[in-house]
Amino acid sequence: MPTASPNARSSLVWLLVACCFLLAPPALAGEARHVLVLYSNNRLLPANLEFEAGLRETLVNSAESSAEFLDYPRFDGESYIRALTLFLNEKYAQPPPDVLVAAGEESLDFLLRHRAELFPRIPMVHAAVARSFLSSLPPLPADVVGVPIQYDFPGTIALALRWHPQARRLVVVTGTSAQDRAWEAELRGEVARFQDRVTAEFLAGLPTDVVLKRLSELGGDAVVFTPGYFEDGAGHQFVPREAARLIAAVSTAPVYGPFDTFIGTGIVGGSMPNFAAMGRKAGEIANALLDGVAPTALRLPEIMLPIVNVDWRQVRRWDIDHNAIPGDAIVWFKTLTLLEEHPTETAVSTAVFLMQTGLIAGLLLERRRRRRVEQAMQQQRFELAHASRLAVAGELTGVIAHEINQPLGAILSNADAADLLLASGADRRNELRAILADIRRDDLRASEIIHRLRALLAKQSVERQPFDLNSAVGEVEPVLRAEARRRGIALEVRTAATAAILVGDRIQIQQVLLNLVLNALDAVADLPEERRVVAVSTERDADCLILVVRDHGHGIAPEHLPKLFDSFFSTKHRGMGLGLSIARTLVEAHGGRLRAEPNPGGGAVFRVEWPMSNGTSTLGPA
Ligand code: ADP
Repeated sequence: MPTASPNARSSLVWLLVACCFLLAPPALAGEARHVLVLYSNNRLLPANLEFEAGLRETLVNSAESSAEFLDYPRFDGESYIRALTLFLNEKYAQPPPDVLVAAGEESLDFLLRHRAELFPRIPMVHAAVARSFLSSLPPLPADVVGVPIQYDFPGTIALALRWHPQARRLVVVTGTSAQDRAWEAELRGEVARFQDRVTAEFLAGLPTDVVLKRLSELGGDAVVFTPGYFEDGAGHQFVPREAARLIAAVSTAPVYGPFDTFIGTGIVGGSMPNFAAMGRKAGEIANALLDGVAPTALRLPEIMLPIVNVDWRQVRRWDIDHNAIPGDAIVWFKTLTLLEEHPTETAVSTAVFLMQTGLIAGLLLERRRRRRVEQAMQQQRFELAHASRLAVAGELTGVIAHEINQPLGAILSNADAADLLLASGADRRNELRAILADIRRDDLRASEIIHRLRALLAKQSVERQPFDLNSAVGEVEPVLRAEARRRGIALEVRTAATAAILVGDRIQIQQVLLNLVLNALDAVADLPEERRVVAVSTERDADCLILVVRDHGHGIAPEHLPKLFDSFFSTKHRGMGLGLSIARTLVEAHGGRLRAEPNPGGGAVFRVEWPMSNGTSTLGPA
């Protein structure tokens, strides 16, 4: 760990020495074992605080630790060192510490020089000392042990260039203290290896305000690297972490640094040794030495490698590719997603949610499928109804031919009569006019019959129009009446006095009437002629529109009642058993109800009811 140097005042030091000496309680042999840590820099340096926390966390309970600070680079120089030596000599003379910890390179250097006079034969642990620094020293005495570390300036720069592939400029910020200059020198050597990728620019030894201004004007093609600094070009003192904070606050390019104490200041990250881990390692070694393990018997790792540390907020701010972050990196300030924080709960709720969604989707699909099937079935029923109409038409061929023949016959007779009138040579214009009017009327009647028949047979599409039930009945009445006459049956038709408006398909309702009346005609066929009567009526009551077909025929056997409306149920020789089931389908498609009941005077009554609102049935075919 780093240090600088105004001369210390020896008188002040002497005063301090005297105070400590007077205030220190006399040490007794066999008391708690004592670890003395000498830090290179001042006590508030964040790196020292972290190191100290790691060390205390690891030292066994029975060990006490004291901390001293070289205050490098602020204080330096021979007289300061002399005074400090005297101070430490007096302070720790009795009892001497059991283990020394040199925390930082300046501290190790100082203790190697002065240990013989200050703390002879006391084993020493070095910590936070770079391997490159150790190799610049003569071989360490056997009782000086530790795990070297590696400050990774080049690794951090390489990382920055990897995470910002667009970068073409590397801006390096350093200060003016001896330590700062040493870092600058090291960095000037290191940047050479990146010269293919980027141009290096040094903001070295400038006043902080100048540095900050320059950093606030950087473009998107730059990345910044700084180890922070202890002193700027204007002679102001800093701890490197504070310098890094100022730099990161204004820089318009991402800032990287090599010390993990910088994390949280706004820098992105870097390849960093971990000061708390160094403290823990020093504590472990001190514990072993306190236990009497010989320094030479310790098996220590060759080096404590740096590790990538990164501030997640900066990753997002600078839009760094997440995949480029190594798996073993320490990621700081990452806000966990719900899944990361509560994996089980989230997985279970997601599964439940997905199951629910699946279920709902399934139900919706099922509903849609059902609706489609229902629509298809409805369509098929209507098609069947149409087929059945054709069959009914077949049944009625005789009567239809008769219905058409009648007007045709009348036309022929009228034409013959007209011929005779013309042959008579007299002026019979008035009579001829009357004959022509008759011909026209008969022709209209024939074409009306054909028109209705075509409507009944040809139409397949379903309509939803308001129509008057009475006139719908009136339209099929001639055909029904003719058929009844052919069979020698009396047909009575009585319609409601007021209009009875239904909304739906007129032809379908006429088909219902046809089916019911043809069944009724069948039912009375075997009766003596005077009792062969079928009555059709329409009625209106307050909330219903009613169509009734009543006969005095053979009636319905009670055991047949439940299956009367089933498809293919028939008691007739050549019956198809579709008439009633089709009639019920058509009535229900119009929101109505079709029921069969015994006629009190014998025979059967078929009753259709449509609920009404405002005088109109609101329901039509679906
Ligand atoms: P089909 O007329 O081809 O037999 P329907 O579905 O129209 O088929 O009628 C089914 C059965 O209902 C008839 O076979 C008959 O037994 C009975 N039925 C229908 N209408 C009457 C009625 N007015 N009186 C007595 N039974 C009837």
